[in-house]
Amino acid sequence: MASERRYYDDGYTASFTGKVAGVGEHDGRPAVELEESWFYPESGGQLGDHGSIGESRVQDVQAGADGRVWHVVDTPPAAAEVPCEVDWARRFDHMQQHTGQHVLSAALERARGWATLSSTLGEERSVIEISSAEVSWRDIEHLETAANRLLWEDRPIVLHWTDAAGVARFALRKPPQVEGRIRIVEIPDWDLSACGGTHTRRTGEVGVIKVVGWEKVRGNVRLSFLCGERALRDHAWRTESLLESAKKRTLKDRDLIAHLERAAEERDELSKRLRELQARLLADEARARVGTPPQPVAELAETRSREEARAFALACLSAGAPWVVSGALAPEPVLVVARAKSHPADLKALLPELLAASRGKGGGSPDQLQIAAADAAGASAGFERARAKLAQG
Ligand SMILES: [Zn+2]
Repeated sequence: MASERRYYDDGYTASFTGKVAGVGEHDGRPAVELEESWFYPESGGQLGDHGSIGESRVQDVQAGADGRVWHVVDTPPAAAEVPCEVDWARRFDHMQQHTGQHVLSAALERARGWATLSSTLGEERSVIEISSAEVSWRDIEHLETAANRLLWEDRPIVLHWTDAAGVARFALRKPPQVEGRIRIVEIPDWDLSACGGTHTRRTGEVGVIKVVGWEKVRGNVRLSFLCGERALRDHAWRTESLLESAKKRTLKDRDLIAHLERAAEERDELSKRLRELQARLLADEARARVGTPPQPVAELAETRSREEARAFALACLSAGAPWVVSGALAPEPVLVVARAKSHPADLKALLPELLAASRGKGGGSPDQLQIAAADAAGASAGFERARAKLAQG
């Protein structure tokens, strides 16, 4: 027998005495069925309730295809009649998100003709996919204003029951997806939807609706929004972050973002300038080491990045060096061996010997090798071997 779902007509009872109708399993987890229940089972994009049945913790509520409602618990209760408690903070939050979703979806439809294609009320954010390819902050502002003004009019939420024949007399925004008895949720002169979820008694209880982002999916827009206390918490952390960051820089909060944008541009400009100066410094150092007439260069640096070791080798070749062995012990032990195009040595033939000496990995071409040595000692050994080989000619 299908459980009696009392939340349909009464979304505000959170404490009741439950009679255990059955103990079983849902998806491999212990679960309890009650003769009648005010717990909401996950459906229609709204999450299931949490709470307690006697000493048992209710971790989820799910309805089977046969209409039976299973309260998923840590351990089944021992008694047949037990005090039950719906986690009211969680449920009321879901009611705020759900009622807010009706109000927002109707605002989208009324102001822009955008239909809600699907909705999911998540643990953190709620999401609706709408029949629009684009949305702007100006659209959002307009829609939020319309939706919130409707909330503040504090209109009642009216429930109707009908059937397949009776449903035609309602001009529904969202048609029913069930058969048999059909529940209609009405916000007078605003929205009519077939819906089995839990809603607040009046729109004022939703408090506020705020859109907090959107993305494009499948040619539609997916809007994220928050209602009630969730919107307050979100506003709180954004405000705290913004004000604290502005205070640190002795700025007004409204000037902070422009300041950070400018700072990022300056940083990019300075990084570019720094790279140019490093290149010039390296070229000067290479010219000094190569000398006149040009001599080969072998230099093992204590600290030099892999990129710099390579850039130094190339700068030495540009300055006229016939060959270069450029190495570094840290931050990574590396070895770069390079020769002028005119020099006859085949460096690739040297590779196996240098890999063995440095206990490293690497590769290259007849005129340039790069080796990552196993450690600093390996880099030193490889460096000495390369220098000796090239000095022999
Ligand atoms: Zn609903």
